[in-house]
Amino acid sequence: AVRITGLTRSFGNRQVLDDINLTIARGEFTALLGRSGSGKSTLLRAVAGLDHGTVGSGEILVPERVSLVFQDSRLLPWLKILDNVVLGLPGKDARGRGRAALDEVSLAKRESAWPHELSGGEQQRAALARSLVSEPELLLADEPFGSLDALTRIRMHRLLRRLYETHRPAVLLVTHDVDEAVILADRVLVLDDGDFVQDLRIDLPAERDPGDPGFQHYRTTL
Ligand code: ATP
Ligand code: MG
Repeated sequence: AVRITGLTRSFGNRQVLDDINLTIARGEFTALLGRSGSGKSTLLRAVAGLDHGTVGSGEILVPERVSLVFQDSRLLPWLKILDNVVLGLPGKDARGRGRAALDEVSLAKRESAWPHELSGGEQQRAALARSLVSEPELLLADEPFGSLDALTRIRMHRLLRRLYETHRPAVLLVTHDVDEAVILADRVLVLDDGDFVQDLRIDLPAERDPGDPGFQHYRTTL
């Protein structure tokens, strides 16, 4: 679902990503670890195509439908929860699909609430519903549970894994939490000094076909 070739990014004279090559198969759940400042978010932004104006080179192949989740929910405060979830979703059945997505994250009863009326964990659940309602082929998540308490985080781990089993997007999850990476992902990458220093396969379920990368879109970066 993702193929990165020769990706380089620098800020000033600091080369944050140094000739990175990475392929993530369709439906593969990959976690990305690395110390603060190692370039995890820079890599995610590049894959998301959200880094125009930065200095670098390389090629990135991504599928057509890509969703993003961040540490904060980024729900729009002037839209109710269901309206946030279905924003930009085409089709007459958009609201029905939005309700189903909210039901998946146990927020069906809160569809008419405003974002500020939800707890941090509930807001992240709504953000997950919003990210999955479009049935993305690739889910990019940058420390989505980083600001949650430990118990809520464990609940979110179970929820994300369940949602993943249902929707089967490829996932690239940035986290500081080694346990989170190992519990959730089938593959763990460690980024350090501009490149991956580890690429560990934890499990690869047989029903996946790692030979099928599932590309639809080609983008040349910068
Ligand atoms: P954290 O775990 O703290 O989120 P990270 O691994 O996500 O860290 P990045 O945010 O990718 O790290 O930043 C990598 C390096 O690039 C850091 O040294 C940071 O200061 C620098 N950097 C990132 N974005 C910019 C920018 N827009 N302008 C200048 N420097 C930047
Ligand atoms: Mg970061």
